[in-house]
Amino acid sequence: MSGLAKASADWRRLAHNVEALARIAGVPMMAMVKADAYGHGMVPAARVMAEAGAGSLGVVALREAWQLRRLPDLAGTTVMAFFFAPDQPGLAEAVGAGIDLGVSSLAQLDAVAAAAGRAGRPARVHLKGDTGMSRGGVAEHEWEQAAEAAAKHQAAGALAVVGAWSHLACADEPGHPANAAQKAAFARFLGAVDAAGLEPEVRHLANSAALIADPETRYDMVRPGIALYGYNPVPDFPVDLRPVIEVRSRVMSVKRLPAGTGVSYGHTHVLERDANVALVPLGYADGVPRAASGRAEVYLAGRRRRVLGRICMDQFVVDCGDDAVKPGEPVVLIGAGEQHPDADDWSAWAGTIPNEILTGLGARIPRLWNRGLEAPAAGG
Ligand SMILES: *Cc1c(COP(=O)(O)O)cnc(C)c1O
Repeated sequence: MSGLAKASADWRRLAHNVEALARIAGVPMMAMVKADAYGHGMVPAARVMAEAGAGSLGVVALREAWQLRRLPDLAGTTVMAFFFAPDQPGLAEAVGAGIDLGVSSLAQLDAVAAAAGRAGRPARVHLKGDTGMSRGGVAEHEWEQAAEAAAKHQAAGALAVVGAWSHLACADEPGHPANAAQKAAFARFLGAVDAAGLEPEVRHLANSAALIADPETRYDMVRPGIALYGYNPVPDFPVDLRPVIEVRSRVMSVKRLPAGTGVSYGHTHVLERDANVALVPLGYADGVPRAASGRAEVYLAGRRRRVLGRICMDQFVVDCGDDAVKPGEPVVLIGAGEQHPDADDWSAWAGTIPNEILTGLGARIPRLWNRGLEAPAAGG
């Protein structure tokens, strides 16, 4: 590597994770590839996952759906998006392109039906009920009205309700009472959909945690995200998942400093003994969380070593003790090796979840799978 950092992805591990989760689920999969496939690169990750058996791809924004829908090799794969305003530009084009739309309100329902009129073909709609997440989805007191409005639009040829779905708030805490409450609410929602005469092909509720921990949530399709990328949100339910992304850097410089020296902003760390300290040229602007300061470790020259003091915007300092570490020495921030830190470690150090670590990887870190698409100066 000529540059100072790189991210690489092992697509065989991604395919392995798709297959492992599909075996557990036993039903079709909508692989969630929103947020650039959790930082993994949406287009290459989507291709690998479709090839490995994911029949549907889930994104949030219409713009993301468009990027996938225009790939000829994914023409046979369903793409669903669910964030759009009722007056969203491009809605008719999305309907025309056959993008499935997750619909969470009466206003969206009417907007989609109107867009279908402009597109000259019925919209494919997944009606979403809020079963207790209190975020997206039609609120329970409007389920009946929404289902009837959808049925009316469907009868008029403006849309086809192909899905009924919801999202769980506490699936990563399998014993949490909200899970039972949401499952019961989802059954009531499906009852309202049925009462309006709708017969959606797919009912879907499960994210990664629910897919793994609770068979009752799997219905006709599962929607894993984080588990596909190798991180199990319910570690009490072991699954053979493999981290896909690795992030590496190289030591930029090394120097010897005497005991008593304060290190980095605020001097939150003071050396207890003389030490060789290595400078690593990645920081919070690259997604190395500042909140992990004082706790984080990296793999450098054969072992894990402590990050000293605050993680800065562009760099941090590593304690190498008396070891003669040289500039250019590889540094593993996220790796798949036995001793390597991974996104679970970083999330523990920073008080977050691996989803945030992976989606936070900064634009300055060259993605090796994009090689050839970068400006030449970005290096590799
Ligand atoms: C992101 C997302 C998922 C996947 O969640 P994970 O916890 O990463 O598995 C599933 N469904 C919806 C609607 C999502 O937005």
